[in-house]
Amino acid sequence: MMSVSLQTKGLIRERVEGVRERIAEAAGESGRRPEEVRFLVASKYYEPEGISALAEAGIELLGENKTEDLLRKQELFPEAFEWHFIGHLQRRKAKEVAGRVALVHSVDSTKLVEELAKRAPGDGMEVLVQVNVSGEESKYGVGEEEVEAVLEAAAGTGGKVRIRGFSTLAPLVADPEDVRYVFAKLRATRDRLRAGWAPHFDLSELSMGMSNDYAVAVKEGATIVRIGRALIEEAR
Ligand SMILES: *Cc1c(COP(=O)(O)O)cnc(C)c1O
Repeated sequence: MMSVSLQTKGLIRERVEGVRERIAEAAGESGRRPEEVRFLVASKYYEPEGISALAEAGIELLGENKTEDLLRKQELFPEAFEWHFIGHLQRRKAKEVAGRVALVHSVDSTKLVEELAKRAPGDGMEVLVQVNVSGEESKYGVGEEEVEAVLEAAAGTGGKVRIRGFSTLAPLVADPEDVRYVFAKLRATRDRLRAGWAPHFDLSELSMGMSNDYAVAVKEGATIVRIGRALIEEAR
């Protein structure tokens, strides 16, 4: 288990402030308000002590990748955070996540929609469709041509699975400007579908941008950025 020293706590607080400032700056540059962007921390890098440090630094939103870790960490911090699920979700694990998180970022098949609909609590659940914009084989997510099939499957669940928008993972590149097109494309997909689907879903959320590229993602319309390494690694 990673032990978090006082020094690390100070570092996390400082880095959290730094990310907040860059989000505000990027929002401002694109004519948006900083409050339009939520700052989610990817909790996979943190053991309980680190998670306490995140709470102390004012972080309110955590996203976990693995169901077992979600259950374990959520139990330790039931009240401190809003929890999301951001990792790849296998159908057989759907029941463990449904009802436990405010938002699942990684719905990537009609079959998963159907499974979540069976497992969702009475008032239903909210999810994002994960889109593989770059077409990299190593990335999860549906191709753009499959997005509407997932929306249709969700519309057929009678409100059990409500699509709130889209998420994507950009390829890892040295210069974040090289993946600006990924974020722009996801936003364009959303914009194209938004009016037609408005009777069913409010597609307002775009979960995109990680440590190395979140400023560019904010400029392209991200409403949730998912930050991990930027808070703990050596400054780059
Ligand atoms: C780990 C992870 C992140 C954060 O990545 P960093 O590059 O460490 O900021 C964001 N999204 C998902 C789905 C992740 O698994």
